[in-house]
Amino acid sequence: MPSVAPYAAQAANSRGRRWPESPAKTRSEFQRDRDRVIHCTAFRRLEYKTQVFVNHEGDLFRTRLTHSIEVAQLARSVARQLELDEDLAEAISLAHDLGHTPFGHAGQDALNACMREHGGFEHNLQSLRVVDLLEERYGAFDGLNLTFETREGILKHCTAEIAAGLGDVGRRFIEGTRPSLEAQITNLADEIAYNNHDIDDGLRSGLLSVEQMRSVEVFDRFFRESIHLFPQAVERRLVNETVRRMINFLVQDLVATTHSNLCAADPRSPDDVRSAPTLVAHSATVAAETLTLKRFLRDNLYQHYLVQRMSSKGRRIVSDLFDAFYGDVRLLPPQYQAKAAENRPRAVADYISGMTDRYAMREHRRLFTVDDR
Ligand code: MG
Repeated sequence: MPSVAPYAAQAANSRGRRWPESPAKTRSEFQRDRDRVIHCTAFRRLEYKTQVFVNHEGDLFRTRLTHSIEVAQLARSVARQLELDEDLAEAISLAHDLGHTPFGHAGQDALNACMREHGGFEHNLQSLRVVDLLEERYGAFDGLNLTFETREGILKHCTAEIAAGLGDVGRRFIEGTRPSLEAQITNLADEIAYNNHDIDDGLRSGLLSVEQMRSVEVFDRFFRESIHLFPQAVERRLVNETVRRMINFLVQDLVATTHSNLCAADPRSPDDVRSAPTLVAHSATVAAETLTLKRFLRDNLYQHYLVQRMSSKGRRIVSDLFDAFYGDVRLLPPQYQAKAAENRPRAVADYISGMTDRYAMREHRRLFTVDDR
């Protein structure tokens, strides 16, 4: 067992599960959470859900599954260096995107628009719904019955109004306190992962060029370093050398800045962490560079007309499906019809958000194409 700092989350002192269970014999409670996430259905569906590039566009692009694994790798690595609980960081990372709709953010925007009159749809809140309610694996309870700490980490953001209906995990949004350091790490590990893998996927797809990327200072800095070290290397290798340097640089900056924040705030327990300001952070310089990079990716990759075309198709499929099911619940599979009897819009949103990209496309064909069943 690596040594753990006094401000780390402690599995033995967890605030517990909603349904009490006897302790695991061979694992900590956070390891057990991680294992439950890995074995759940929603986790396997991540393999066929879009990150930025629609799943069938190419075999090498990131999917929600590989994204989540990359987040977990980064979060573990940072957690270990700061003597925090790696298992909790991993459990939160692997679960953080379980509630994503098909077709990435486009799918979520479309579903949110459909649900406007019915409480909205937000993937982060849906991730909590998946682990709290929607997974059907246990005889004694719905969901995965995860510990408070993992659930709290999954719920990244939330309005005070919605938080009021969420019980213990919502309380921090009302009280204005922070989650565990492990949860704070996962947030930034998520950002490091997607910024860097989107550069890689953007270049691989040809939607971005290296020349364009070199207009971003942080990329250019490490690209120049890579050329200097490997003047004979082909461009693809130089890109890989650049991206890995960027990731390393960001992780080191995150660890160093957080370490000095921890020294200054001197929290002695996980409770001290909750009442302190956010302690896991990048330095001001790196935060500014990250913002520039994010703007560049937004303007040049996410807004690229070919990405927009995929997004618009995704949005249309999601809202067509919603209209069809909401308009006639008899089109839903029987188990969702039963749920629709209690809350029709929510049952439809749960059904659609659980779909993989290709399942959504198949359902769309079944409903809207005459020859398809
Ligand atoms: Mg993510």
